[in-house]
Order: sequence, then C-alpha cells, then structure tokens
Amino acid sequence: MADSRIPGFYNMPLSGRIGRLAQAADLPQEVLAPYASGGGLSPEAADHMIENVVGTHALPVGIGLNFRINEKDVLVPMVIEEPSVVAGASFMAKLARAGGGFRASSTAPEMIGQMQVLDLRDIQSACASLLEHKTELLSEADSIDPVLKKAGGGARDLEVRVIQDSPIGAFLVLHLIYDVRDAMGANAVNTACERLAPRVEALTGGRVHLRILSNLADRRLTRTRCRIPATELAFDRFTGEAVRDGIVEAWAFALADPYRAATHNKGIMNGVDAVVIATGNDWRAIEAGAHAYAARSGKYTSLSTWEVDAQGNLVGTLEMPMAVGIVGGATKVHPSAQAALRLMGVKTASELAEVIVSVGLAQNLAALRALATEGIQRGHMSLHARQVAIAAGATGELIEVVATQMVADGVVRIDRAEEILKGRRKSSKPS
Ligand code: NAD
Repeated sequence: MADSRIPGFYNMPLSGRIGRLAQAADLPQEVLAPYASGGGLSPEAADHMIENVVGTHALPVGIGLNFRINEKDVLVPMVIEEPSVVAGASFMAKLARAGGGFRASSTAPEMIGQMQVLDLRDIQSACASLLEHKTELLSEADSIDPVLKKAGGGARDLEVRVIQDSPIGAFLVLHLIYDVRDAMGANAVNTACERLAPRVEALTGGRVHLRILSNLADRRLTRTRCRIPATELAFDRFTGEAVRDGIVEAWAFALADPYRAATHNKGIMNGVDAVVIATGNDWRAIEAGAHAYAARSGKYTSLSTWEVDAQGNLVGTLEMPMAVGIVGGATKVHPSAQAALRLMGVKTASELAEVIVSVGLAQNLAALRALATEGIQRGHMSLHARQVAIAAGATGELIEVVATQMVADGVVRIDRAEEILKGRRKSSKPS
C-alpha cells in the first residue's frame, strides 16, 4: 500500500528522492528508472512518435504528496515548468486529508463522434431514417473494434441534431456515442465514424462531410469533492473562518465574471495538465474539453464550486470532462508515462481521471487561498526568484543566495540578479 505522506521530501537531496519515493509507493526502484534518465525517451523512440524529429525536450517531474483519493493514498507525478504548483497541490492535499481526502467518481467513458451530413433535401425525414435504423447502425459500429469490445466497450447510442443557423444553411449532425473504456478514444471513435459514413449517406441521401470525435466530452465526466475543516485553513494572522469565507468570495467572482473565470480555471488546469502530461495523455484535448464545458450554459464560468456546509467546513467540488487513457496514444510507448501509471497504481482510465481532477481541485484551492489572503506573489516569488537567478547565470549555491537576496529586497528581476552576481564575484576576487 502506498503512503503519500513523505515528510521532508523537498529537503532530501535529489539523488535520494527516487529511492524514498519507490519505498513510499511500495514499488521496485527500477519502475521509476525513466525519471532518473532524463525522461527515458530516446531520440530513436521519439522518431517513431512524430515527424521531423531532432531530439527530445525535457521538463521537470515533481511529486504531488499527501493525496488521499477514495480512501487510497496516491503519489502523483506532475510534469510542469511553473514553480509553486507542486508545492501548492501537495499542501492543499494535506488540508483536504484532514477532512477525509477527496471523494471522486466518473460517468461511463463515453465519447461522442460527430458526422456532419450535408446536401439533404429533407432534413426531418433524414433524421427519421437514421433513428429507424439505429439498431443496425449501432451494431455495425459495435463490430469495428473487437479489442475494445472485448474490454467491455463499444457503440452505445445515436443522436441526431439539426443545426439551423449556419452560413451554409441548415444541416444534420449525427452523434455516435461510443464507450471507449480505458482508451482516450479519439482513434477508435474516428475510425467508427469513418466506417459508418457510407451507410449514413445511403440512408439519408446526403453527403457525410466531417467524421471526427468531439472534444466536448460531456458524457465522460469526472467529479471530485473535498471537505476542509475551517480550523485547518488558519495561518499567520488569518483565522480559519476568514480564509474560508475569503475563498468563497473569490469563487463567486469567477462564477460571475469570465475575465476572472479564465484565470480561475487556468489554476485548475495547472494541476490537471501536469498529471495529464506525466501520463502521456493529450493535454490539448483536455484543455479544449474543459473550457468548452465551462462555457456550456452560453456563458464562460468557473469549473469548480466552493461553499460552506452546515458544520462550517469549506467544501469544494470540481466536475469536468476527462478523456484520458491508460492504453493507446503515447501512454504505452513513453517510458515515463508507464512509470507514472505504475506510481499512481491506477488500473482504469476512470481511476486516472479521478486522480487528475482531484489534483485540479487541490490546485484551485491553493490559488484561491493565496489570492484571498496574502496575495499570490509572496509564496510564488521565492520559487520564481530561483528561476530568475539561474537565467542571470547563477549556478550551484549561488542560485539560493541570489534568490534570497532578491526576495529580501523585494525586487525579483533579471537585472537585479545580475547585479547581485556581479557584486558577489567582485567581492570573492582576491585583492
Ligand atoms: P489508440 O487507438 O492508440 O488505442 C485505443 C485502442 O486500444 C482501442 O481502440 C482498442 O483497440 C485498444 N485497447 C486495448 N485494451 C483496451 C482497453 N482496456 N480499453 C480500451 N481500448 C483498449 O488510442 P485512442 O485512445 O483511440 O486515441 C488516442 C490518440 O488519438 C491520442 O494520441 C490523441 O492525441 C489522438 N487524437 C486526438 C484527436 C482529438 O482529440 N481531437 C484527434 C485525433 C487523434
């Protein structure tokens, strides 16, 4: 059984962390070997993944600690270049743990494939004809991927929609609902749509134009919830109640205003994308789905909800589409993605989705807590200062020295970092 609490992990030397992580995850250290070798993706392997390959591009992997999701501890690999995110998520997971951790659930992994049917003389009779032949069309779509079928997936439903207002006039859209089980599902669904198209043309007398999945995966939703006792939120001069109420006020801003909601949701995606990328999943698909879902009422709004329950606890909820896989795409071919799945111990795509959305909610809380109290910059700046110090040319121990000086001065800028470095070099020269 994994234990996601590793006190003092951030203070350990880099060389000791993998061993300690393997121990906490109850895994042989070899499983995590790709992390110790620059991500484990050789240029040769990369050459088989995309076109015109010249090499690979590395990013840091940090571990989200303290996560307890559905009564199970999970150590979460997060791939991200932005400081503060891993620390913020880990800290909020610790607070959520005090209220029992995260409770997450998912709907069936059903994706939507779209077929655009044009050149119809009578749209209504085309709709009727497709619905009359629903059983036949579903059974044809169902037989396309025997591997997926054996895993319990397959075609589930057909829906017809009519788009009335468009620059090319009215047209019909056929939705194929496909259960993709543990796959992200784009290839499976696109293949099914392409195969079905000739029969759809024959049944409607129209022309099937686009045949492609929708990234607005609103039938494949994951929801997570956490409850934080107000006392856990107190820090410095802020009482728990003040922090709790400040968070609800901050959320109300995102609920009402798209300018704020975009940034609020970006904070959620800081956590979400980091795990999506760590597992080799398609983060553009997740981003597209998230923002389209946030605008589903016609007005872009917050993906999360923050409220106070009858006992005075802060309760957060996040629901969003989560089309991720543990088979297919890059998940199986990228060595670090395989290590990530083993580290988390997820056995289904839904379990992975539940971890990802819980990290998103934790990250949302980290940002709201900071914004509603001391402001985002204080915590962020000391970490950001290190990157600025490195950019100015600091190495080794000098990174920390320069960063600390800039934070103390309240000026975190490259010109200031260069100035401090120059001063240090001058004073260390023998006279
Ligand atoms: P895939 O085709 O590589 O793998 C899915 C296949 O794995 C299934 O069709 C099935 O045959 C097999 N499989 C084995 N065990 C399974 C199980 N337990 N559950 C489900 N399937 C199982 O991948 P995919 O998930 O169909 O497609 C994902 C890829 O498509 C990603 O790389 C994504 O970037 C890409 N893509 C995305 C879009 C988009 O988002 N709009 C469009 C095109 C392609």
